[in-house]
Amino acid sequence: MAHPRRSRAAERARSVAADAEPCNITGCKDPQARSFNFSVVAPFFGAGELDADRKGNVGLCKDHYKHYKKASKESRTTARANWD
Ligand SMILES: [Zn+2]
Repeated sequence: MAHPRRSRAAERARSVAADAEPCNITGCKDPQARSFNFSVVAPFFGAGELDADRKGNVGLCKDHYKHYKKASKESRTTARANWD
């Protein structure tokens, strides 16, 4: 059965919002794009920024994933310089 385009779009928007958990950064309502172990991302965010269980996973939206990726890249470069 064919559905009118308008209602199908509305249905899809609703299901995306329902399926995607919100980002685990405090105050961020964007849907999660990636999930990480807490200990992996914790160093790159402030203690109060992560709204997640310390033993669980942290879901990040696209923007916060970018932030993490950028921060982890910089810190890895620094860490490597220290280790060598
Ligand atoms: Zn976010």
